[in-house]
Amino acid sequence: MTVRGPVRPAELGLCLPHEHLFSIFGEEPAERAEYDVPKLMGEVSRYVNSLRFLGCRAIADGTTAWFGRDASLLRRVSTATGVHVLTNTGYYGAANDRYVPRSAREESASQIAARWVSEYTGGIDGTGVKPGFMKLGVDAGPLSAIDEKLFEAACLAHHETGLLITVHTADAVEATGRQLELLKKHGIRADAWVWIHANNCKDEGALKSAAEAGAWLSFDGVAPENVERHLALVGMMKSMGRLKQVLLSHDGNSFRAGGRPMKPYSGLFTHFIPALREAKYSETEIRLMTVDNPARALTIGKRLL
Ligand SMILES: [Zn+2]
Repeated sequence: MTVRGPVRPAELGLCLPHEHLFSIFGEEPAERAEYDVPKLMGEVSRYVNSLRFLGCRAIADGTTAWFGRDASLLRRVSTATGVHVLTNTGYYGAANDRYVPRSAREESASQIAARWVSEYTGGIDGTGVKPGFMKLGVDAGPLSAIDEKLFEAACLAHHETGLLITVHTADAVEATGRQLELLKKHGIRADAWVWIHANNCKDEGALKSAAEAGAWLSFDGVAPENVERHLALVGMMKSMGRLKQVLLSHDGNSFRAGGRPMKPYSGLFTHFIPALREAKYSETEIRLMTVDNPARALTIGKRLL
């Protein structure tokens, strides 16, 4: 489900599954972010166009509600560039729950799930744009009460919508085990869940056990300076026969509020894919990780036990 409507998974093309076209991350939470729209449209469209020339066909945008999601602007960028864009529903519980709205603290998991399901059935903020996946975030340590409630809400919403559950988890290893347990409790398969920023986890055992459980591992810190780290992670997955669960992206951001410099998301094309070729990965394997896997992960469908 893209911001311009549904597309067939086979038509998605090379997809960056975790980027931010724009956000106000680091600023005060806001129900509606106020952007300098002409400046944003100019800079983001120009950047996304440059990615299209490098071969990018689709981008899943991980900016959630309350830190800058704007479905109508995402649709405008997608229309202007011809690149597919997917947006999300959910709340971001990392950063010490700063971007979780007060309503979610009072509501039950099923009330929160109902809000997210209504974005899927009725569109976001009156735009008619529907989310293509769910995005959450958790803090390090054992899953906090609010993060656990949000995750349960995501499980309930998955049963209604079949949307993929992507969760900023990074090196929160304890939270990883708990999320896998909760999925099971709700009768949901591990391949409904993406461990976002798995590249930040130094615990190889935890990465391997999530992979063996069937989860998606998102190595989304690709940049020219850390090609070796990402090659090592992909190599680990290849040695396990699990390349079909790898997602590759940059966690870039082409327009950040507060005068922060943009974070590029082109290193996959300029550095990492060439490095994979150099390391003798086949074109089939490269296509698997950059085209087939994101399409399969983002295909809407209930993944039940
Ligand atoms: Zn991100």
